[in-house]
Amino acid sequence: MILSKIFISIVDIHAKQKLLVDLQVNASYDVIIVGAGTAGCLAAYSAAKEGLGKIALVDRKTKGQIGSKICGDGIGIKHIEFLESLGYPLRENEVVRNVIQNAHIISPDSKTDFSIPIQGQLAIIDRHKFGQVLLNETINDQITLFDKSTLNSIEQKGNTVEAKFTTNKAEPLVLSAPLLIDGSGFNSKIREDFGIFDEYAKVKDDEQYYCYREICTLEGNVPEKYSDSAIFEFSYDITKGGYMWFFSRGGNEYNMGTGIPKTWIKNLSPKEIYQANMISRFQSSTVLNSGGGFVPTRHPIPTHVKDNIILTGDAGAIVNPLHGGGLGASLASGYIAGKIAAKVVPDQTVSEEGLWIYNQKILEKYCQRYSILDFYRILLQNIPDVELNHALAEGYLPMDKIFYAREYEQLMHLSRKLGQIWSQLPNQRFNLLPNYIEKVHQMTTKYPASPDGITNWQKEYSQIYSEFQSKIAIKK
Ligand SMILES: Cc1cc2nc3c(=O)[nH]c(=O)nc-3n(C[C@H](O)[C@H](O)[C@H](O)COP(=O)(O)OP(=O)(O)OC[C@H]3O[C@@H](n4cnc5c(N)ncnc54)[C@H](O)[C@@H]3O)c2cc1C
Repeated sequence: MILSKIFISIVDIHAKQKLLVDLQVNASYDVIIVGAGTAGCLAAYSAAKEGLGKIALVDRKTKGQIGSKICGDGIGIKHIEFLESLGYPLRENEVVRNVIQNAHIISPDSKTDFSIPIQGQLAIIDRHKFGQVLLNETINDQITLFDKSTLNSIEQKGNTVEAKFTTNKAEPLVLSAPLLIDGSGFNSKIREDFGIFDEYAKVKDDEQYYCYREICTLEGNVPEKYSDSAIFEFSYDITKGGYMWFFSRGGNEYNMGTGIPKTWIKNLSPKEIYQANMISRFQSSTVLNSGGGFVPTRHPIPTHVKDNIILTGDAGAIVNPLHGGGLGASLASGYIAGKIAAKVVPDQTVSEEGLWIYNQKILEKYCQRYSILDFYRILLQNIPDVELNHALAEGYLPMDKIFYAREYEQLMHLSRKLGQIWSQLPNQRFNLLPNYIEKVHQMTTKYPASPDGITNWQKEYSQIYSEFQSKIAIKK
């Protein structure tokens, strides 16, 4: 009798413990992917394709909202083709709204127009449909979607990471896995808040643009140059080195907006800039959708991995620093991260060292080029309109070629050729550039082969940008 009572209470204790465990750790997975945007979906896709069987894909939005985002909606056709080759039926689902024939980069005084016949290389998409096709075609038996779940904290425990998410239920959702891929976008808490990545990974105020964007119809006589075009206008006077864009969505629909460095948002409103300098050009318009958002616009952060963690897409600030365009890079970085996950999880090599290969692949694909392009971004943020007008008119800042130098070698070749002209100029905004571009080129070619070398490397690397910036800054 006594024995059976003891037995029952032991069973009881076990049941209670199990209940407690169930509340605290809902489940363990091969990989947790935070964010079901473009980076997150592609990470889930490739991890599953390469063999991982238990993938948690978590997003704070409802399933139906995923993909809706304030965006310029411009993406290279080659990315659409890549996704279609993986089996995503994008054009079939009318994701592509328009295919752009011409790009224009226009000087502040409107006198120089670099016109680039891009002949269908840029698509303007329906962003929500795009996200929904990615999501719905990604989810399969290997992938569980947890929507309406916001990442709140993570804890590294031995060889696993435990992530807590706030949901609409009283208890948090708690997931654990050997690896977490962060695809949570620009506001990544993992990059900025949790003390896992250091100051070199933080995005400063002058390294991000705050944007206001409208999707609208334009009525009346719309000048010819706006139709089937993607237009960028740079100006210090108006956007403080940010930009204004006009993208045709086909017919009389447009995606238009402006971004300014965050350093200026106390004094300036992108919405007011938009109203005074953009929409006011047209006779009448109807707004279909509007809103604001931040984009990172900085040189690549020194490392995208820590023990058990990989940063992808905007969470890793992997964007073109000239304008913050990051759709292509988010897809590619997510895809690469998922592939790596499928190798390191079974091999149990999820340490920072084991994940270093991701840094090397991202460096080669994007970060070398973006490291150089960031000098052009710093230049644009620190050049008065009168100097920019002159440089564009004289042709020693060929923004068209800089924008479209797709390969790193191509960009270096162009920058060195321009460097020969710049080094002769008295204007230090230009004559200092060749030296700094060379310095960063040297740094990226000796990127550390393992985490051991990163402490010194990142110090030297970020010093190059702050030094250049301080030397050419416009005195306010
Ligand atoms: C105004 C504007 C215009 C732009 N125009 C262009 C353009 O024309 N072309 C281009 O290439 N790029 C453009 N971009 C950038 C582009 O939108 C991003 O680079 C791209 O969307 C990044 O994809 P991502 O998957 O990394 O992040 P996102 O698309 O931002 O996805 C992140 C996902 O994570 C979820 N999430 C966020 N936080 C949490 C959390 N704590 N817990 C759980 N889930 C979370 C979000 O709900 C979201 O679904 C623009 C951006 C802005 C703001």
